[in-house]
Amino acid sequence: MKKAMPGGRASSAPLLGSDTEPTIFEMSQSGRRAFQLRTTGVPALPLDQLVPREHLNPTHVELAEVSERDLVAHFTRLSHRQFAVDLGAYPLGSCTMKYNPKFCDAVAGDPGLNSVHPGAPAHLTQGWLALLCDLEERLCEVTGMAGATLQPAAGAAGELTGLLIMRAYHESRGDQRKRVIIPDSAHGTNPASVTLGGYEVTTIPSDERGLVDVNALRAVLGPDVAGIMLTNPNTVGLFEEEISEIANAVHEVGGLLYYDGANLNAILGVVRPGDMGFDIVHMNLHKTFATPHGGGGPGAGPVAVASHLVEFLPGPKPAMTSEGTYEWRTPHHSIGRVHGWHGNAMVLARALAYITVHGGDGLPRVAQHAVLNANWLRQRLQAVLPAAYDRPCMHECVLTATGIKHNHNVRALDLAKRLMEKGFHAPTVYFPLIVDEALMFEPTETESPQTLEALACALEEIAEEAVVDGDRVRHAPLTTPVTRVDEARAARQLVPTEDAAERV
Ligand SMILES: *Cc1c(COP(=O)(O)O)cnc(C)c1O
Repeated sequence: MKKAMPGGRASSAPLLGSDTEPTIFEMSQSGRRAFQLRTTGVPALPLDQLVPREHLNPTHVELAEVSERDLVAHFTRLSHRQFAVDLGAYPLGSCTMKYNPKFCDAVAGDPGLNSVHPGAPAHLTQGWLALLCDLEERLCEVTGMAGATLQPAAGAAGELTGLLIMRAYHESRGDQRKRVIIPDSAHGTNPASVTLGGYEVTTIPSDERGLVDVNALRAVLGPDVAGIMLTNPNTVGLFEEEISEIANAVHEVGGLLYYDGANLNAILGVVRPGDMGFDIVHMNLHKTFATPHGGGGPGAGPVAVASHLVEFLPGPKPAMTSEGTYEWRTPHHSIGRVHGWHGNAMVLARALAYITVHGGDGLPRVAQHAVLNANWLRQRLQAVLPAAYDRPCMHECVLTATGIKHNHNVRALDLAKRLMEKGFHAPTVYFPLIVDEALMFEPTETESPQTLEALACALEEIAEEAVVDGDRVRHAPLTTPVTRVDEARAARQLVPTEDAAERV
């Protein structure tokens, strides 16, 4: 651990964006406190007279000692060194990293909701149970399903839950099946969940349209297929037009259809997975409804199922009694718990707030505006960054930098890095894997035409720079607090300590 630096360091605070912000330990001054209690006259006893010696930690724990003012300034300065959803457009695709309305946070901040222990008995938590029941019902309405669980902690956890339900269903019929089919454009969590769920993955190729190749699908179908996992619109932002044929073909061999709902915001209130023929759906509430989710969580991945699967849902579930009160019930053939308690409750509360406020024609408008924005951007950028598949997209568009790479040796990664210097967050790059030099933009419904135009202009400028000053783009970013990092080294040489820089 570093020694405390001489005083005065914090007061000569660096400017925003500087890379010389000291660590909180460097700012530390022995004896300095963020607050002081009033003097009482009660003599201060040594610690080992207050706490039995055997309970005291024998090692000295070095904590930073700073004033509240310096503490707040330090973290506020640090917060200004990163890009955030509250600072500007965040066109990252596939994650729906959108601006989330603040009223959802206000709801989650209600002490009536957030001071309740999840283990409190049902008769003391009727309000929470009513809220959860209400949310389950609305999610079933949005997806066209018969029942739901709110327990899974995020999309990937929902996938595993769905696959365990698929398994329980087949096993209840004495039907041993082995394989789950996944298109090659799928999100990486899909094959991982299939493997965790005890099935083998069969991958099918996309066709030249970027859609499921129905003939390739038919060729791998058989009585050992437990089901198929599909994202629709898929990860290239395209709607699977032959979804009814796909559903019929899979159902004909006794398989189930699993809907990866990460892209549900594209079809919200317009078309429902249940009506497309799906049996199981997970939703990423943190992607479609509310909850900012950068930095890894928290999220919520409720799973909704068709009527023949309701008995397998995780439990306990909130349910209304015949007297109109609420209780916890576990379905007959439940696969059991998939969460320590009832799910990530505050994400659930935010989602219900979002759905309630947008109800009626609000939810379809979310989807329509998201689709309009993505198509506008795709069309606007056509000359600079052509679409990987030249057809109308849904809520996100996948563009390719293949041309710029071949002509000017500037890659998608370089464009994305340079974009951060122009006041925009980078798009998703190199995903989906089936597109060369992919740049995936998802403007979402929240961005204005002016913001989209500014984003397009920034990309045009960068494309121009690639021609006249390629090195500037290849070495970008040069003006951000952290310049280009060695991403491979970060993954291979993980040193999670505050003095990491000195150790490597
Ligand atoms: C985000 C995403 C997932 C995984 O969801 P998490 O909530 O991050 O666990 C699965 N599939 C697709 C298509 C996604 O975009």
